[in-house]
Amino acid sequence: MTTVVTDNCQRCRFTDCVTVCPVDCFHGDDEMLYIDPDVCIDCGACIPLCPVQAIYEEMDLPEEKERWIEVNAERAPDLPVINEQQEPYPGAEERKAELGY
Ligand code: SF4
Ligand code: SF4
Repeated sequence: MTTVVTDNCQRCRFTDCVTVCPVDCFHGDDEMLYIDPDVCIDCGACIPLCPVQAIYEEMDLPEEKERWIEVNAERAPDLPVINEQQEPYPGAEERKAELGY
């Protein structure tokens, strides 16, 4: 079982999530973050901090988002670790509003 970042994270970079991860398992490309399932200890600390509900426990994933399990596992290990809070992307607040948060 792991924790998974989904498409709501795209173009956000609020990165509140990375500040609480005890094992530095968030990785990122220019678009979004991904969790390395081999490193995540499934503590759940990051989930309530995401302002756009992008992070789910694997077992709580809505069916239409299940593909993100594989995407996180494939993408995370090859990307740099993100473990410090960053400036949100320009337009992140508008994107958050678009998503209904
Ligand atoms: S807080 Fe949520 S949307 Fe923002 S970077 Fe983390 S997972 Fe992505
Ligand atoms: S569930 Fe815990 S270990 Fe896994 S990414 Fe979130 S904060 Fe890190």
